[in-house]
Amino acid sequence: MKITALGTNGWFDSQTGSTNCTLIQTDDFSIVLDAGYGIAKIKNRVDFSKPVYIFLTHLHLDHIIGLHVLDWFTFDQPLRIIAPAGGLEDLKDFMRRPFTTNWDQHPYAVELIDADDLSEQGFPFEVSALPLVHAVPDTGYRFVIEGKVVAFVLDTAFCDNAVKLAQNADFLITESGFLPEQGNPKTGHMDPAGAARLAREAGAKQVLLIHFGANVYDSIEKRSQAVETGRDIYPDLIMGVDQMEFIL
Ligand SMILES: [Zn+2]
Ligand SMILES: [Zn+2]
Repeated sequence: MKITALGTNGWFDSQTGSTNCTLIQTDDFSIVLDAGYGIAKIKNRVDFSKPVYIFLTHLHLDHIIGLHVLDWFTFDQPLRIIAPAGGLEDLKDFMRRPFTTNWDQHPYAVELIDADDLSEQGFPFEVSALPLVHAVPDTGYRFVIEGKVVAFVLDTAFCDNAVKLAQNADFLITESGFLPEQGNPKTGHMDPAGAARLAREAGAKQVLLIHFGANVYDSIEKRSQAVETGRDIYPDLIMGVDQMEFIL
């Protein structure tokens, strides 16, 4: 499978990149993790003849604003969008006029699913979900795809559920919303050291950091310096930048 970082910014788009979006591709389907404006980059990457699934962690705009771009794509199979647990009605309330096209009025079929209801969906992969710790309800995901575990743990303070989702993951995608000097308060973000602690406690094998808050990470160099502070705890932290690709 191929994993591509399409948007690695938190909060807003800037010269460092797009708001967050990560793409997982196999021969049979694509999974889009969060829908910031990075989702626009799936245009020339995804095989739209195959199923596409969009999983949303929460409804802060930097994670869903790219849903406004869905009109640009043509999905040959029903597009399935997984709302954060308990967030289905709020998602419907956003995916409607006058904000964007109504979710059920695209020229292709769209199905909205609540993350509380992931069993018996007939997905061609395993997925489980747990609540994380953020300013608003936030859902983390753990996938088993082609025998590999991929964990998606975004916009959260360090917490037990984050460790559970990332346990022995082959690939952990997590966040570094804060600078080292902002530390790891319980307001729902981590700095690189917090992410490194999560990676170490979970025993994750590869760890990609994204969601660098655009307000404080105004250059890639700042990301680089900050990520270095986490490498005492977990040496192999990977600093995400837009368009970075990984083959698992
Ligand atoms: Zn965010
Ligand atoms: Zn958020």
